Amino acid sequence: MNRFEILKKNKWRYISFIIGFLLLVSPFALLIRLEFWITGNLAEPSIHYACLRMPIGWIFRGAVNYLISRPEMTAFIIGVLGLSLFLGPIFCGWLCPVGAVSEAISRIIPLPNKFRIHIKDTNITSALRYGFFAGYITIYILIGLKLSGDWIGSICCRFCASTILQNLAAGIFGWLLPTYGSIEYWGTASIIVLISWLIIGGIFTYGGRGWCLFFCPLGAFSNLLYKVGAKLGFYRITYNKDKCSHCKKCNLVCPMWAIKSDHSVETALCINCKECVNICPTGALTMKWGKENATK
Ligand code: SF4
Ligand code: SF4
Repeated sequence: MNRFEILKKNKWRYISFIIGFLLLVSPFALLIRLEFWITGNLAEPSIHYACLRMPIGWIFRGAVNYLISRPEMTAFIIGVLGLSLFLGPIFCGWLCPVGAVSEAISRIIPLPNKFRIHIKDTNITSALRYGFFAGYITIYILIGLKLSGDWIGSICCRFCASTILQNLAAGIFGWLLPTYGSIEYWGTASIIVLISWLIIGGIFTYGGRGWCLFFCPLGAFSNLLYKVGAKLGFYRITYNKDKCSHCKKCNLVCPMWAIKSDHSVETALCINCKECVNICPTGALTMKWGKENATK
């Protein structure tokens, strides 16, 4: 299957990414605009009002008052995490503009794969990913126990890829629509994130999802819930070894390095993007509901 055929097979996913951008990123931010219109909020909408990282911190520091005072953000995080349990991390795989942009950059820039980071052992990738996630939630548990100040949490905001994406959009659309805004807030942290997210995590990482794999707490939390949901028999990817021809095409298309050496899928990494299902020539990989053995 050539590059064009892969694009064609996955066209709904790429269309969905464009919809995700229009829903969340200003100057469009259509979802936030709708919410502001309903609630009568006169603020300028942007991706920050749909922040999915801060509520995870609030959950782990036990800040119920924050969750109550920002009901729209609480509803959004419950929706995304609930979907992850029942349908897998489809926000990550089908809507998230941060992951979509870095994945797109990786596909557009034809860097030879030998120059790209690619850890093939899913145990190592999972250990690195969840080690970072454990560090992240530890910070918020310490804040909740009053063993650390709030200022540590605000560092996370400085090193946020959503902020960089929103600022890039502000720069590009501010240039096209001078009344909208301009590129701003560029400092050391922004440049570090830009390099980590788009250059190292996008161009120099196989699949372009380096940021998602190692630094996104929402992605890690969503995948943990997916792992639980898959064990309970909710919607998940399944592998039938009897049908597999060991062609390794699934390994080559997976942006999350989630295919194990035996070609079964590590649900702690998989974002249910269906790229492997669409490329598998024998139908060994399928999406299923039900209690049937997930590893068969
Ligand atoms: S295992 Fe398949 S569905 Fe999961 S992330 Fe990889 S390509 Fe996408
Ligand atoms: S693409 Fe399908 S047949 Fe090929 S290795 Fe993967 S699961 Fe097996």
